[in-house]
Amino acid sequence: MMDDQDRIRRIARQHVRTDELLGVSFMPVAGRQEDAVPTPVSQPVMVSSPPVPSPRPLPRSSSSELSAAAKRPSGPAPSGPLSRQQKLDILAAMNADEVVSCTKCDLCRTRIQTVFGEGDPDTPLLFVGEGPGQTEDEQGRPFVGRAGELLNKMIVAMGLGREQVYIANVVKCRPPNNRPPTPVEVDACSGYLLRQIATLRPKVIVTLGGPATKLLLSTSQGITTIRGTWHQFNGLQPEGPIIPVMPTFHPAYLLRAYTEDNRRKVWSDLQKVMQKIKGESETK
Ligand code: SF4
Repeated sequence: MMDDQDRIRRIARQHVRTDELLGVSFMPVAGRQEDAVPTPVSQPVMVSSPPVPSPRPLPRSSSSELSAAAKRPSGPAPSGPLSRQQKLDILAAMNADEVVSCTKCDLCRTRIQTVFGEGDPDTPLLFVGEGPGQTEDEQGRPFVGRAGELLNKMIVAMGLGREQVYIANVVKCRPPNNRPPTPVEVDACSGYLLRQIATLRPKVIVTLGGPATKLLLSTSQGITTIRGTWHQFNGLQPEGPIIPVMPTFHPAYLLRAYTEDNRRKVWSDLQKVMQKIKGESETK
């Protein structure tokens, strides 16, 4: 069986091979400077978790009760354009007043801390992953482990910085042993993500992997089938906009299946995203 050292050496060799093939450590940066996505540079905004309360016993609730509770707006409902400060206030209040002490599903029992999400509230680009892993659980920030390092490279390859996008997950607490969240857990937690989207109103959402894609597109299609083509998130209708969604592979999957073919597929997906954002800003 291949040990960790061998696996790390193999991945390092593949990174070097990618460098040789494509010019950067993840994928080729857009060939011309003018291809870079025109995004205002903003200070990074970290919505960090306040001190962690001890998990409390869960009340017995049915799935539908959990769903209704999670999706019920409890703060100011964003219904129109919001200023940067209004977005920051809404997100910070949601995190401090609801998420850090949330006990709506069993994941509260095993988490170290919740992982709300972070980034530029005025970003045109939202990445949505599945849930926190071990490093994220320890640090309270999304995508800071090995998959996060790869996501950072993907963002840089798009001509952006991590501080220029927003990153969130479907569930805000780590599923034990990094298993996928169960439908009950997704149902319980999804209201927070939907309210984050309603507040941020990004121009484009990139779903990373199956759970995020299935939730936002209400589809049962697998990520291998659905990735690489444009879809629509209609969850803010009728008041809010329809948001284009590009599903692609989760960076953790890419690390497990770090083939040139998979990297080319992800890079192709991200190039479509860059073009979409560029087109959106040119039509203004
Ligand atoms: S995963 Fe979401 S719904 Fe479950 S306890 Fe954590 S914050 Fe609450």
